[in-house]
Amino acid sequence: MGRLFGTNGVRGISNVEMTPELAQHLGLACGTYLNSIKKPSNRRKCAIIGTDTRTSNSMIKCAFVSGILSTGCDIYDAGIITSPGLQYATRSFKMDFGVIITASHNPPEFNGIKCIDADGTELAPEQESVIEDIYFSGTFAKADWKSIGAVYPKPDAVQVYIDKVVSCVDANAIAKRRPKVVVDASNGAGSFTLPYILRKLGCEVISLNCQPDGMFPGHQSEPVEENVKDLMNTVKAAGADFGVVNDGDADRAVFIDENGKYITQDKELTLFAKLAVEEASKKKCKNMYVACPVAISMSTEEAIKPYGAKMVYTVIGSPKVARKMIELDAVFGGEANGGLIFPEMQYCRDGGMAAAKMAEIISKTGRKVSEMVAELPQWQMVQAKTKCPNEIKQKVIEEYAKSAKALKPESVDMQDGTKSYFKNGWVLARPSGTEPIYRVYAESKERKVAEKLLSDHIKMIEDLVAKLKV
Ligand code: MG
Repeated sequence: MGRLFGTNGVRGISNVEMTPELAQHLGLACGTYLNSIKKPSNRRKCAIIGTDTRTSNSMIKCAFVSGILSTGCDIYDAGIITSPGLQYATRSFKMDFGVIITASHNPPEFNGIKCIDADGTELAPEQESVIEDIYFSGTFAKADWKSIGAVYPKPDAVQVYIDKVVSCVDANAIAKRRPKVVVDASNGAGSFTLPYILRKLGCEVISLNCQPDGMFPGHQSEPVEENVKDLMNTVKAAGADFGVVNDGDADRAVFIDENGKYITQDKELTLFAKLAVEEASKKKCKNMYVACPVAISMSTEEAIKPYGAKMVYTVIGSPKVARKMIELDAVFGGEANGGLIFPEMQYCRDGGMAAAKMAEIISKTGRKVSEMVAELPQWQMVQAKTKCPNEIKQKVIEEYAKSAKALKPESVDMQDGTKSYFKNGWVLARPSGTEPIYRVYAESKERKVAEKLLSDHIKMIEDLVAKLKV
């Protein structure tokens, strides 16, 4: 039995891996899964579906919809919508399930299917594996002809999302300050949200790549520095307060400061976490928790400490972060890839909310983005990977954990790989779930120390692989 779901749903090249056959069978499997969940009422199950702007979306969507209708579920079609927009719609329209056809930041030939739980969070891996089992069993629920599902349009989902984001920030403060913002939607689903949210808040908006186009003519939809040079130049030329770019499905947002400088995503995460706990401490909030995956920079933990906030590390993956935030009623959470989670809005990465929040921050504080970034704690992270055959991976994991403990670290976190904290820094060695590799991260205030930690631990793994390989 193969695996279908990766860390971000099902992904592949359209008409190669991402075929209509796969989409239809996944629709059948999701509908069968939904029918198996007992609810107090026996009403028909309903799901909402939306897509980003990719050229293969209609093919994948129609196939998925045909499968799920066959199981007797109704479908509400939100059209082109961002991932956070669809996630908010799933919860606010009281759907049983949500489906997003998107390959996020991947090149245009890719597409994917991501499944959303009734509460708007991404499905947990345990739920995905139930759907996988149904998919591979090939045994699907089939409704009789009188109970086959129907499709209803849901064109207001995008507007409902925009209105909710606007209600979650201090719109008066933003309208008063009227920040100038250059937005770049990467020709993706954010084309329908990013400029509209900021305009509704009273910002002066200059838009780039905000015409939806699945060929991604502006630039590739991953918001890395080399893809957003036009945005960086425009921010500077226009004298804007900041620039913001969404990836293809707009669950991530990355920022450019007022000088046209790209803000790295670990700094972005630290900045938003710091500002969230600062605000929460003013409100005398009790649950001063910030949740992030184990591989993020120590700068975030250091930045939130003075406010009495506690950092809680989770397994890598935004669904894990979101669920930990719900459990702790945390004030903030996110990943160091531009995926930020604002609990006042919803428990998922939200690139529209992040943009609105940045407008609010500079309006309320009257500060420049570059100044706020310059004040953040400075740490130096390095990373590398090393080969480790899958057959001996489990043994290497066990032996490496023993060797790392023998170095007498101050503490060890074993929830996702082995993360050892030393006096001068930390090292995380994390085996890949699929590839025959180990990823190793090390961080310290000094680059030399981080590099030494990294090379020492890579060497430890290499020695173990050589010893256990035979
Ligand atoms: Mg994305």
